[in-house]
Amino acid sequence: MKRFEFVEASSLAQAAKLAAQPNGAVRAGGIDLMDLQKEHLAEPDRVISIRRVPGAAEIREEGGALVIGPLVTLAQLASHPVALAKWKAVAVAAGEAASPQVRNQATVIGNLLQRPRCWYFRNELLQCARKGGPDCLSQEGENRYHAIFENKDCAIVHASNVSPAAMLFDGSVKTVKADGSRREIPLAKLFVKPEVDITKEHVLEAGEVVEALVLPAKAGGDHSSFLAAREKSAFDWPLFSLAVRLEMSGNVVKAAQIVFGAAAPTPLRREKAEAALVGKAIDEATARAAAALCFEDATPMTQNGYKVAMGTALTARAILAAV
Ligand SMILES: Cc1cc2nc3c(=O)[nH]c(=O)nc-3n(C[C@H](O)[C@H](O)[C@H](O)COP(=O)(O)OP(=O)(O)OC[C@H]3O[C@@H](n4cnc5c(N)ncnc54)[C@H](O)[C@@H]3O)c2cc1C
Repeated sequence: MKRFEFVEASSLAQAAKLAAQPNGAVRAGGIDLMDLQKEHLAEPDRVISIRRVPGAAEIREEGGALVIGPLVTLAQLASHPVALAKWKAVAVAAGEAASPQVRNQATVIGNLLQRPRCWYFRNELLQCARKGGPDCLSQEGENRYHAIFENKDCAIVHASNVSPAAMLFDGSVKTVKADGSRREIPLAKLFVKPEVDITKEHVLEAGEVVEALVLPAKAGGDHSSFLAAREKSAFDWPLFSLAVRLEMSGNVVKAAQIVFGAAAPTPLRREKAEAALVGKAIDEATARAAAALCFEDATPMTQNGYKVAMGTALTARAILAAV
């Protein structure tokens, strides 16, 4: 690992100023950043820790929304009673990530901003397209863990459990920049598709620090679910994941949202299937039909066709679980 200066910021605005200087990096729990440093994929000269920023580890309700600070851990969110009651899929997604040890250290915001797990990307000796090389090495390589949608330029899968679930509730992040200005970015606009910029996963500028993840309240009770399939029951990223939210009128669906996580380079809304659920009562047949619609445009690679069958079954289950 390259030597670096370690600085503890006393405020998020100060962290933004320090991180905007050449080759600075913000550190929250440090789980992914440390991995990237060890793998020589990130070589910051200065690491700015936000762990001493007062109040940054708070979850609070504000005007009906849940506001999650930048030091709130996955474990904290997973066991938060209000989150479990009103934003269930998000709390469940946080509680299903990684392992208990990781969840006690990893932050929710860091989870959103972690870099992809693709083994070609993570191997410091290989120059894949995401690292400025000419090709996506998974196209003709080992691609059993890779994307089954939007995978032609780069076949990483979006790594965060939390983001698809938070998107169900129209979540957004509030940020502060080095010049002190602030903005709010809907999660639907935070993540960058490979065809827009293959080298980055989110639109945050150098030094821009996330102050909070905001989850607005939704009317009509919480009918939401998060499901993931993985090879190991812990200490692993999902092979496939999704989050579903339904707004019900009696036993009929008024509105639906389905967002896939580990299936494409960015979280993926499934609008056609969502529309197909509206006006219907949910039973196994309706859930299976909507699930099949979700995979109509899948483009599996040479080794990951199994994800289509697995994802279809999991999607039907997630719809039934949500209702
Ligand atoms: C064995 C293992 C299994 C895992 N399994 C899963 C899984 O199943 N599902 C899943 O979703 N995740 C999984 N993870 C990933 C883990 O959840 C993330 O690495 C972790 O949440 C990152 O949070 P952190 O606080 O440690 O972030 P850090 O490592 O501190 O930061 C991550 C990135 O975000 C940036 N950053 C952090 N906070 C801010 C901020 N406030 N403003 C701006 N930039 C910021 C950092 O600069 C860095 O680039 C797993 C990790 C491990 C080690």
